[in-house]
Amino acid sequence: MTQEISTTPDVGTAAEIGNFSTLGLHPSVLAAITAVGYEEPSPIQTKSIPLIMAGHDMIGQAQTGTGKTAAFALPILSRIDAARREAQVLVLAPTRELALQVATAFESFAAQMSSVNVVAIYGGAPMGPQLKAIRNGAQVIVATPGRLVDHLSRNGGLLSTIKFLVLDEADEMLKLGFMDDLEVIFNAMPDERQTVLFSATLPASIRGIAEKHLRNPQQVKIASKTQTVARIEQAHLMVHADQKVNAVLRLLEVEDFDAMIGFVRTKQATLDIAAALEAKGYKVAALNGDIAQNQRERVIESLKDGRLNIVIATDVAARGLDVPRITHVFNIDMPYDPESYVHRIGRTGRAGRDGRALLLVTPRERRMLQVIERVTGQKVAEILLPDAKVILQARIRRLTQDLAPRVKDKENKNVELLTHLTTELGCTVEDLALALLAKTTEGQAFTLDGVEREQPTIAPRSRDDRGDRGDRGDRGSRPPREGGRDGGRDSGSRGPREPLALSEGKVRCRTALGTRDGVAARNLLGAILNEGGLQRDAIGRIQIRESFSLVELPEEGLERLLGKLKDTRVGGKALKLRRYRED
Ligand code: AMP
Repeated sequence: MTQEISTTPDVGTAAEIGNFSTLGLHPSVLAAITAVGYEEPSPIQTKSIPLIMAGHDMIGQAQTGTGKTAAFALPILSRIDAARREAQVLVLAPTRELALQVATAFESFAAQMSSVNVVAIYGGAPMGPQLKAIRNGAQVIVATPGRLVDHLSRNGGLLSTIKFLVLDEADEMLKLGFMDDLEVIFNAMPDERQTVLFSATLPASIRGIAEKHLRNPQQVKIASKTQTVARIEQAHLMVHADQKVNAVLRLLEVEDFDAMIGFVRTKQATLDIAAALEAKGYKVAALNGDIAQNQRERVIESLKDGRLNIVIATDVAARGLDVPRITHVFNIDMPYDPESYVHRIGRTGRAGRDGRALLLVTPRERRMLQVIERVTGQKVAEILLPDAKVILQARIRRLTQDLAPRVKDKENKNVELLTHLTTELGCTVEDLALALLAKTTEGQAFTLDGVEREQPTIAPRSRDDRGDRGDRGDRGSRPPREGGRDGGRDSGSRGPREPLALSEGKVRCRTALGTRDGVAARNLLGAILNEGGLQRDAIGRIQIRESFSLVELPEEGLERLLGKLKDTRVGGKALKLRRYRED
């Protein structure tokens, strides 16, 4: 099949985006969207859904963060025959982690369709249950190519009933060397099918696949006209998704803002973040599409006049919101495209004032950050999570600023009260000042220890923590990608608040043992101390992850130490420590 690729115009701006209910999706799918709290389709969804619903083959140029998974999952689920208990949809994904994410997304979108089942097929797990799930009539298979080919070699007819094929992150699949596997899979599938290909980039190899295996594909990509962003200082912080609330709380401690608007993607997130901030004493409200118009107006008025300082909103709910007091825009969730980023951050820097825009980026969204930087022609500087010391300094600075005018106030009416209190309490002015300080600072620590204790644990990110997508390659040939799904969590590690940098004179070593092997930091520590004959302080930070662990060891004499530990076993399994080199 060699065909021209026809291109549809770029997707429009946020203002032109419609509503899920106009896209022709199945009512059960619509109900599921409402349940997950999506308010409006993202640009890639607005464009892709009607094409897929109409039966077209499609090439979507979109990276993670644009909502691409729902862009294919929603229309495909709307079109399958739920009554037929046979495999109808195959989604191929480059990594186990992505396959699991896509499978979970399909499950949540199919939550209101009782008879639809989803199975994830990937390496590193037994094949039997996967095969059984397919045989039991799962309609949706989400697979990594390598493992699927293993299944096909035993059961060539496995894909004979497939009607929809999705290649997700096609460029990544090719980079990982899955080209041959893809050919095997194409050949095991009926010609009569609808094929959808998503890829962040469209190199010649991808176009080649499209020409060979897609029929008259429509091409969709998100608009990326150059945008101007004036007078707005921009910064981003890398963070794992499950640490966003903590990151927001810490950043708010150190950012000097008058009023702030925080953007998130779902209604639920507006409520969750607003509740977390309110619990810390911020004057905050949530704004989402469920909030009645009069209530919305009240919130905006309160933000204008200072009764509120923070509003956490979805893009839809924030539309038209124009409050000159806003000094900060906080992109807590990534916008879908650069245009909407520019649109969001334009809420600050109004009336000739300077503004500041903050952006949280999860490891998978790095690429989106690059796109934003390219389109806006500006760097979005990286900032680090403020540590306890920085937070303490900020608190002291604020308290000082707060007290300064009062100290200078010669008209202070409380002189008599001061005399009365010191007499009544039989204390010095200093004692009283300390008591008043204790009262003023109640609920907020003003010592380093105290601030440290207050902070929820956020694991340091390591430089290797590039993607949170788990294993690459699914046949065990490649090492697991560090920083898997819960890569940022530091279960059982020591000193989770220590800075990312290596301790002086130490290097990182890696073992393939992790929590899934029942290993905890104390086991590693014990084994290395005993068998290596080391002093306790010779071992630095230990990070335990699901499928591997990192241990900081002294660089000096490392080879000798690793030699000594050659046959060490932990929990019955070989430790096999190796020096770990970060790229
Ligand atoms: P993806 O680009 O598919 O990896 O999606 C990125 C994130 O956006 C996921 O957490 C989705 O749940 C979320 N998402 C996708 N579409 C929407 C939407 N229309 N509204 C709100 N969130 C969405």
